[in-house]
Amino acid sequence: MDLDSAIRAAAFERLAELVRYCPDGVPAAEIKSGFIFGDGILPFRSQQGIFRPKEMTGGALSISTVVPTSGPPRYDDEIASDENFFVYRYRDNGPQSFDNQLLRKAYRDQSPIIYFRGIAPALYDVFWPCFITNDDPVSGLIHVEVGVAALDLAELKSPAVERKYVMRAVRQRLHQQQFRRMVLRAYRERCTICRLRETRLLQAAHILPDRDERGLAEVPNGLSLCSIHHGAFDANLLGISPDFAVQLSPRLLEDHDGPMLEQGLKAFHGTHINLPQREADHPSRDYLEERYAAFRSVA
Ligand SMILES: [Zn+2]
Repeated sequence: MDLDSAIRAAAFERLAELVRYCPDGVPAAEIKSGFIFGDGILPFRSQQGIFRPKEMTGGALSISTVVPTSGPPRYDDEIASDENFFVYRYRDNGPQSFDNQLLRKAYRDQSPIIYFRGIAPALYDVFWPCFITNDDPVSGLIHVEVGVAALDLAELKSPAVERKYVMRAVRQRLHQQQFRRMVLRAYRERCTICRLRETRLLQAAHILPDRDERGLAEVPNGLSLCSIHHGAFDANLLGISPDFAVQLSPRLLEDHDGPMLEQGLKAFHGTHINLPQREADHPSRDYLEERYAAFRSVA
């Protein structure tokens, strides 16, 4: 393996570790600590957006976009639904500038690059390996496609089909992340049932499932739940009535077991969930009613 490829591989390996512990995006501080290569530590990215460590000789290692510090957060609608790529803009100092040449070289060599996509101030969604599949020096726009390895879809055979699948998966992931962020924020990063506030154990549950066409990724169709309450809710072991009361299934209520069942589940029977502050964020009573009927029919 040549030096550039070895450096890229080391960067990808470190990123795989980082994203595992950062379900809500990788904080800038983590990225800033770089990755180990040989005896030293190399940076992943620079403020300028297009970056290659000085140890490398080929095209860019990474590209970055940041969110504006004010204004609305960015969402997945920046990628049109019929497109299979992100659009990235050259640095505005001409196609011959050093940075833009790094982009163009990565395109010519089809080098795998990293895309740090800002999703909130100092927070990034990270995609790799990405490939530049179109380079237009006149408009200064490039297309960035996410490679298969990024999403463990290596079993797919045809490259053309792969790309579609990958981008659909990317879009889905952005969608889910957006839903999670909005729901958790509305509930002030707590489980609506037990008030646990460890975000790594919190999930955004859909009231009406994702596959339901009304199962929109909107806050009134969501509940912020810890892993155990989310699991119980999805398994219809726990229901939430349209007037926001927590109900346990008779089976659980009749059972006797250790503290997880007694205090973690049964103790919440008959209590009310903690609602978001904004009324517009409250769970929809209609959705809850429909879901609660399903819980009752199973329980
Ligand atoms: Zn909980």
